Amino acid sequence: MVGREHEPLRDIVIVGGGTAGWMTAALLSRLFINGYRIRLIESDAIGTIGVGEATIPAIRTFNQLAGIDEFKFLKATQGTYKLGIEFVDWRAKGSSYIHGFGKIGQDLMWLHPHQFWLHQAARGQAKHFDHYALNCVMARTAKFAPPDPRNPESPMADIDYAYHFDANLYARFLRGRSEKQGVERIEGRIVGVRQHPETGFVEGVTLEDGREVAGDIFVDCSGMRALLIGETLGVGYEDWRHWLPCDRALAVPCENAPTLLPYTRSTARDAGWQWRIPLQHRIGNGHVYSSAHAYDDTIADILLDNLDGAPLADPRPVRFVPGKRHRVWEKNVVAIGLASGFLEPLESTSIHLIQTAILRLIALFPHRGFDAADVAEYNRQSDFEFRDVRDFIIAHYKVTDREDTPFWAYVKHMDIPDSLAERLDLFRSSARFFVHGKAELFREESWVQVLIGQGLDMRHDPMVDMIPEGDIASFMHDIQDVIADCANALPSHADYIARNCRADGILV
Ligand SMILES: Cc1cc2nc3c(=O)[nH]c(=O)nc-3n(C[C@H](O)[C@H](O)[C@H](O)COP(=O)(O)OP(=O)(O)OC[C@H]3O[C@@H](n4cnc5c(N)ncnc54)[C@H](O)[C@@H]3O)c2cc1C
Repeated sequence: MVGREHEPLRDIVIVGGGTAGWMTAALLSRLFINGYRIRLIESDAIGTIGVGEATIPAIRTFNQLAGIDEFKFLKATQGTYKLGIEFVDWRAKGSSYIHGFGKIGQDLMWLHPHQFWLHQAARGQAKHFDHYALNCVMARTAKFAPPDPRNPESPMADIDYAYHFDANLYARFLRGRSEKQGVERIEGRIVGVRQHPETGFVEGVTLEDGREVAGDIFVDCSGMRALLIGETLGVGYEDWRHWLPCDRALAVPCENAPTLLPYTRSTARDAGWQWRIPLQHRIGNGHVYSSAHAYDDTIADILLDNLDGAPLADPRPVRFVPGKRHRVWEKNVVAIGLASGFLEPLESTSIHLIQTAILRLIALFPHRGFDAADVAEYNRQSDFEFRDVRDFIIAHYKVTDREDTPFWAYVKHMDIPDSLAERLDLFRSSARFFVHGKAELFREESWVQVLIGQGLDMRHDPMVDMIPEGDIASFMHDIQDVIADCANALPSHADYIARNCRADGILV
């Protein structure tokens, strides 16, 4: 006999209609097809955060699962392709490197190409590291094509990409799909929450007009306010400002530039950094900064003085605290999106964390009894994921030659988590990387590009010295030649979009 506590939950209430809410609604309504009721409550009066426009390649998996056609999606969201992120002035003023998605060069025996690059660089015989990865060369030359699996030996097979898109249009696009898949949208401001008097489980939320929406499980996608997980259930927040001092941003769109770049740009500033996200109809810009190291009124000038086109609106302020909820699943509330935590958008990871949170919820979807083991596993996995991404972001600040402003002096000399310190020591020793956990997001290629770009002092693997110098030189030369030839043969990013997914009325 199966007890009632093992019966499936049927009534899912999503609180919030930003990117997190509508991504959750779109995927659950696509995959939960039998007997589920999914309702989403959002308030037009409150609105969404309206930023969050750059992604990492895993979003393509989300789109596939959600049954989304790439070209339709890019047309509907004024989207463009993203091959990586350029970091300007991060190591030192005047420096630039690309953290590209996709593979770097080619392995020789069991050794990865950065080992040979370090060997050659120490002898002054290596070109900029970007030259050895097709994604980076494509980005530098504003080219785009998807991977071509027909010749697995060619670097063209290893191209990898993500998207840039308009956050508001993305939410609208997902809403349309979700409603077609049966999601009921409820417009209204939540003003009250009813909890079970003994267990504290959330039983329903009350709207301003008096309606109550009851449910079995509540997905809190209410943004930084964290209406259920924080305000109602009182789950605390771990503040990581001592490692990630940036806690404010100003965002402003501007007119497009002549060349449609297939990458995000992050330019270091005196007390933070500025993003540039190219869309078909505009460029999204913003300055992320530390309020402990900058006066708010200076930031708007810096931002507006460094746009590639005329501003299309007034700069909009956003405040945040980098960190995460102590537990993102508590009782019958699962927080997804900004309600669960936030890491600054340096590596475009927030939408990815939404995606993995939804997949985790599906994998651990509870029955009526809400087994503590499922909840604990969910919380353990999300904790690992947040800390893993956090370490990678901290590395960009810690490993730098800059100490020319109080902000850069602080981050260069700050203490860092042990997990990161150990990883950096291993890189310094012989540029080696080992995965800490299956769920780790950034792999060797990412760490290597960022740490070389930021100027970490690394020695190559001693095994490289077993190979004759001349062989290493010609091996590296060949990689660079093949990559340059491949990039030359590709269409421009603008042409690729114009041919396949131009948004109506937009000339790219
Ligand atoms: C400066 C900045 C830049 C960013 N850039 C990136 C990026 O490039 N890439 C990336 O992946 N991520 C980025 N992010 C993160 C990204 O914006 C968010 O992860 C994403 O937008 C999800 O937000 P959300 O849906 O959790 O919250 P929100 O968009 O804030 O949505 C909250 C929803 O809850 C509703 N709501 C709140 N209270 C109530 C109530 N009382 N009653 C009814 N409804 C309510 C609101 O109406 C809204 O619909 C950035 C974030 C910031 C701050």
